[in-house]
Formats: sequence, C-alpha cells, structure tokens
Amino acid sequence: MPARRFSLAPGHALARLLIAIAVAAISTTLALTEALSSVDDWLVDRRISFSRTLPDERILLVLIDEHSLSGHGRWPWPRATLASLIDRLDAGNPRAIALDLLLSEVEPGQGDELLADALQRSGRVVLPVAVEEERPGGVLIEILPHAGLAPHAMVLGHTTVAQSHDGRARGVFLRAGLGGPHWSHLSLALTEGADPLPLERLPGMAAPTRTVSSPFLWQQDRFVLVGAGRFVQGKRHDRVSAADVLAGHLDNATLQDRFVLVGATARGLGERLRVPAASGDALMSGVEFHAAVLDELHNGRLLVPLPLPAVAGLSILLVLTPFVFVWSGRVRVELLSVLAAISLTILITVFLLGRGVWFPPTAVLSVLILLVPLLMADKAWRWRMLADNDGLTGMANRRRLDRQIAIEWASTRRSGTSLAVLLVDVDHFKAFNDRHGHGAGDQALRSVAEVLLRHARRPHDLAARYGGEEFAVVLPDCDLDDATRVAEEIRSEVRALPPPKGLPAGVGPLTVSIGVACRRWHADGRAQDLLDDADRALYAAKAAGRDRVHGPDPG
Ligand code: GH3
Ligand code: MG
Ligand code: MG
Repeated sequence: MPARRFSLAPGHALARLLIAIAVAAISTTLALTEALSSVDDWLVDRRISFSRTLPDERILLVLIDEHSLSGHGRWPWPRATLASLIDRLDAGNPRAIALDLLLSEVEPGQGDELLADALQRSGRVVLPVAVEEERPGGVLIEILPHAGLAPHAMVLGHTTVAQSHDGRARGVFLRAGLGGPHWSHLSLALTEGADPLPLERLPGMAAPTRTVSSPFLWQQDRFVLVGAGRFVQGKRHDRVSAADVLAGHLDNATLQDRFVLVGATARGLGERLRVPAASGDALMSGVEFHAAVLDELHNGRLLVPLPLPAVAGLSILLVLTPFVFVWSGRVRVELLSVLAAISLTILITVFLLGRGVWFPPTAVLSVLILLVPLLMADKAWRWRMLADNDGLTGMANRRRLDRQIAIEWASTRRSGTSLAVLLVDVDHFKAFNDRHGHGAGDQALRSVAEVLLRHARRPHDLAARYGGEEFAVVLPDCDLDDATRVAEEIRSEVRALPPPKGLPAGVGPLTVSIGVACRRWHADGRAQDLLDDADRALYAAKAAGRDRVHGPDPG
C-alpha cells in the first residue's frame, strides 16, 4: 500500500485562507499603528553597536564650555565678543560656520551692529531658527535671530530634533517650518549654503501630503534617522573651546575648509539630548547632535525609514509567503516555510539597512512566530482526525465508535430516551474475496460504507467500521421499531448495489446480516451491553440464513 498523505481538503483550504486573511490584517494594523515601535526602535539602535565609523575630520566644534565662561564671564556674552569669535573663525577660511545660539533679543548699544558686520563680512554663517509655544499651551511661533542680524546670515536653519515616544533623540526632519517646511535643518543648511536644494532632491521619508494647511502648524518633511550615539566617548568630533579661539590659540590651517559648529555645552546652557549609544544611553548637547547629523548627511550614512504604506505592503507580502506552500497540504512544509519567511524578513531588513533604508521588522516577525503554534494546532487536529477514521472507507473507526457509544449511553440517563445500535456483517465475504480478489472486496466494502453513511442522518448518528467486513451504526433517541426499519432499508439497499466495477453482471448480489439492539438507561447497564446484544442478534441473523435483520431476543 502506498503511504497515505494528507490531502488538501476544502475545509483545510478554507482554514488556510482565513488564517492568511487574519495574518495579513494583523500585520497591516501593527505596521500602520506602529504598535511595536519600541521594539523596532531598540532594533534600529543596535546598528550603532556595530558601527566602526570614525568621526568626519572636516567637522570642528567650537564650544562655549566651562573654560570659556570662566575666561569671558557668564552667559550671555556681549555680542561684540561673538563678533570677534566669528572674525577669528572666518580668518581660517572654513567652508561654513553654524552659530547655534539664540540671538532673538536686541542688545542695547553697539554690539549687534558689530556682530551684523562680522556676519556680513564672513557671508558663510548659518543662524538658527527655533520653535516654541508663545505661552504654555499657546500657538507655536518661530524664534528667529532679530531683524538686525537675520539678514546678514548666509542662511537660517532650524534646530529641532525629533524625539521618539521614549524621549530619545533618534532623528531629524531635514526641512521644517511654521506653515510649511521652508527651513533646512541647521546641518543641511551648512552644506547647502545660500541655495537650498529642492525638496525632491533631499534624502529622507517624504511627509504625507497635507489636506489642510495652516500657518500655525509646524510642518516637517524628509525624516531621517540619525545614529548620533556613534559619536560619543572616544569617537567624538574634533572640538575646541571658544575661549581658546578668542585667545588666538587656534591656527588658521586648522580651520581651512572645515564645517565649524559653534554651540553651548557649559552646564545650564542649552539642551541635553538623550541618544541611544553602543553602551546604553549617552547625553549630548544640541550642537554635538547637529554635528552628528552633518556627519551622517555628508557621508551618506543617514537611515531613511520606509514610508508606512510601503512598510504595510512589504509586511503583507512577507507574512503571506508561508501560504504559498499551502498546496503541499503538509504541515511540516508549512512550518519550514514559516522559518524561511522569518529568515527572509531578517535578510531583507539587513539588506535594506545596508542601502540606508530602515524597514521595521518586528510586526512581521511576531506574526510569523504566532503562525507556528497555529499550524501546530492544525497538525494536531488533523492527526486526531486520522486516528479516529478508517483508512479504507474514510468513515469513523472502532476507536471513535467506542467513544461515541459511551457518550451517547451516558446522555440517555439525562434524556430518558433509548439508544439503538446496528451491527452489520457482510455475508460470505471470505468467498467473495477468494472469487473476485481483494481489490473488488475493498471496493465492495466502500459501497457498503456509503449505504451506511447515508442512513446515519441525524447529527448524533454515527456509522463506523467495526473491523474487517463488520460495521456498526449508532442511533441515539431511536426505539427498536425505528432501528429495525433503518436496518431493513440498509439491507435492501446493499442487496440492490451494482456489482463492483470489472465484475461480470451475473455475479450474485452482496448481502448483509444485521443485528439490532436497543436499550434505555439502566443503573447497572453499560454501553458494552448494547454491543453484546447486537452481536447476539447478528449471530441469530446469520444462523437463520443470512441476508436478514434480527432484533434482540425477547426477555
Ligand atoms: P459470514 O457470512 O459468516 O460473515 O462469512 P464471511 O466469509 O463473511 O466471514 P469470515 O469472518 O469468515 O470472513 C471475513 C472475510 O472478510 C475475511 C477477510 O478476507 C475479509 N476481509 C476483512 N477485512 C477486509 C478488507 O479490508 N478488505 C477485503 N477485501 N476483505 C476483507
Ligand atoms: Mg465477520
Ligand atoms: Mg461476514
């Protein structure tokens, strides 16, 4: 006999379709709601641990640090001091200078004019734009350098940093602004100079098109992920104290062609950002973060998240790959294909990472992992089906029959109804086999099984193969008369069956003898008694000449 395989029954295919739809829906929801974003954030932060990047030598930080404050007095410094700082830096011929200091208030006296002149002379200084609530809960306003200074800057750049739900700084929008994304990020402005690039040419995730536009909305576009945590501890960007620059300790050659970022790091001055780094979190000043953005921007290391619709689409594709193998009908193949899909997801994620694109894989991976127990449960269910069914006829087997009789017998106690059992045995079947061969015998048994199955009509009726050429029918809530009538119908239908294919038409009809038993609940009774009764009745039917139905002996 060939090894039996699971076949892809219609019920199985439907179950697979439902699972596939559920799986696609769950992964889309997870992708669109970013429900697992904290795990994805953790994953994307891991790239920092593997980074061997050295800080870009073209970047120089000029820091208003403790040393600067002790040399030149408390903050804010006179604008005249800032003017001479700019002059000093500009003399070294750097590529561009970012002065990451808020200059929104007018200083009484000549200071502002001096600074404006220094900015004008240089022509390569970027000044910052911040955004703030006018008052707590109030409308947002842009904080620009005041009108005496702003026109003398090469260009303005925004300094906002995007923080995730967990408060960590992981990225920036390369363009942002009130009422429209018109300001480049400070670091981008440094490289762009006076002519901003068209939005389409910028890297970063495009913002969804807005249906309403409001002059009071802070609009952001071209989001990029920044691994600022790479540039901590031993890998920090070159830095020098502003006091040392003012004192003339920095020679011009050091400044040649570099990007200079001036910002405050002294205690109590400026913000401190929490960034994920290789060994836990690190704290960074705003100016150090902007230097990190500039570094990654300049060296093509910024990571661009895949837009949400693309994430959803790719997620659906990946979670549905195991279902391609559903035709095999083999759970083991499906489980292997789930493992393959998990590997494929990891591979695609790593491949995209290598090309500077971030695909958050957690939703897909968790849905795929969830598929494993689902498929295992399905396998267990099908094993159970196999254990309960007869291989030749597909009907219930002896194991299932014994269980069903016990259950139905127990329920007669509550219902007070009677339970009937028919035992059906094919007459002279040994001779039939001997004459026509085992193949014809098997086919005959299948035809008899079909007749029996047709007569197990009600939901709790059960037709089963008892063993060999013997069958049983369990008929709950059925009295002796009705059971005998069913038995008679079965007997005459079997008799009327056409001879198995390939046999001459003249072959005598196949017949069965049937023993009928019927009992009501009795405290001393057992389910087995019914089978014993039916067996005795069957014996009597055989003894009386076969091809007949016999009931239980009276008394
Ligand atoms: P009786 O009328 O007294 O029942 O005579 P019988 O020949 O039917 O009874 P017996 O128990 O002597 O023989 C049963 C035969 O059924 C023996 C066996 O070859 C045949 N048989 C049992 N299971 C199968 C089966 O799965 N396939 C086929 N082809 N034959 C089977
Ligand atoms: Mg027999
Ligand atoms: Mg027989």
